[in-house]
This record gives sequence, structure tokens and C-alpha cells, in this order.
Amino acid sequence: MCQSCGIPLDTEEVKGTKENGLKSDEYCKYCYENGVFKNPKTNLDEMKDTVETQMKRLKLPHYVIQKAVNILPALKRWKTK
Ligand SMILES: [Zn+2]
Repeated sequence: MCQSCGIPLDTEEVKGTKENGLKSDEYCKYCYENGVFKNPKTNLDEMKDTVETQMKRLKLPHYVIQKAVNILPALKRWKTK
């Protein structure tokens, strides 16, 4: 899954691109393009809001949304030592 927003990277299509133009196995195209984050200033709380808003728009069940939001702090981009 994307190590920034948590969406599954199950197709090449959804993967972001690295600086060298190759596909990233860590980040999706919505978060990461050409080796940089699209929203470099986004913090974890903002990402939680974004994920929640988008999933609500898709009318996903509350527990699915909660689970997705709870995963975020464990992702590479947000993990703190
Ligand atoms: Zn992402």
C-alpha cells in the first residue's frame, strides 16, 4: 500500500513515479510524482482528514474508514522514531 495515504498499490497504474521515471513501490501517484510528494507540507492530521473525506464520499462503512485512518500513523511517511 501507499506509505503516505494507505491506498493499495495493486496496479502499476496507481503507483507514483520516482525521480528517474520508474514506478515507486512505496507511494501512489496521488501522493508522489517524479520523486517528490505532491503536498510536501501535509501533516498526518491533514492526511487523516483527506482520507476520511474521500472515503466518506465513496460511502464506505464507518469501520472501514476508521481502519484506514488508523493505519496511517504506521506508514513510512508518518512514522516517527
Ligand atoms: Zn498515496
